[in-house]
Amino acid sequence: MPDPKVYLLDGGTLVIDESDVHWHINAGNPVRFPVYSVLIEHPDALILFDTGFDLDHVNKVLPFELPEQTPEQTIPAQLAKAGFTPEDVDIVVNSHFHFDHVGGNKYLTNAKTLVHKEELRHAKVPEPFERLGYSDLSFDHPGVNYTPVAGDFEIVPGVWLFETPGHTIGHYSLMVEMEQEKSMLFCGDAAYTRTTLEKEWIAGFHLDPTKSVEAIRRLNYLARTKNADLYPSHELEPYLGWKLAPEYYGGN
Ligand SMILES: [Zn+2]
Repeated sequence: MPDPKVYLLDGGTLVIDESDVHWHINAGNPVRFPVYSVLIEHPDALILFDTGFDLDHVNKVLPFELPEQTPEQTIPAQLAKAGFTPEDVDIVVNSHFHFDHVGGNKYLTNAKTLVHKEELRHAKVPEPFERLGYSDLSFDHPGVNYTPVAGDFEIVPGVWLFETPGHTIGHYSLMVEMEQEKSMLFCGDAAYTRTTLEKEWIAGFHLDPTKSVEAIRRLNYLARTKNADLYPSHELEPYLGWKLAPEYYGGN
């Protein structure tokens, strides 16, 4: 059986302070970073991991993050680049429910939503300092079809969710196993950058700093033992070298 095809969908960019990227480091230095989603074309299901931000929401609620997103960088337009429509997606799963990872869920009207049960509860009753993070609840629309999960979970053969809490209470990272090339481990916001992974510098945004460090160690351990490349969530420099849809990884 060939490896699944993995498309990286470009979702535009946002700006935050460097001390939010790496806690307590270089305060006062704004950093522009990418937001992307991962589309997995697997024989058993078409799976979308994260769905980026909604431009109108960010302009309205978090305009200080200076969002940039062209019409071509929305979820429907990015899916079209890979040859799909929003109705084709079978399963959507979000690393967590912060606004920059859920903005396109509302387009996926035929998908079931795999959800970490703690994350769903917490998004609705967040701590005060998490309210902006959880400000876009459009993923929780009346027609949504949730499948709650907890713990590590194999979605379809070879596509894994690994628990990496700390940034949020029910955070998941996702791994796509490959036979013909290296497996791909998408960190989500458990690791914004390569420096996060190398120096164990957690993000300024977090629920639990100790668990955040443990999550970084878990990602590095998984990469080593599963022969996987790590893909951090929000760093421009490596991102610019990655293949973006319509190009893809795997498929051989
Ligand atoms: Zn994020």
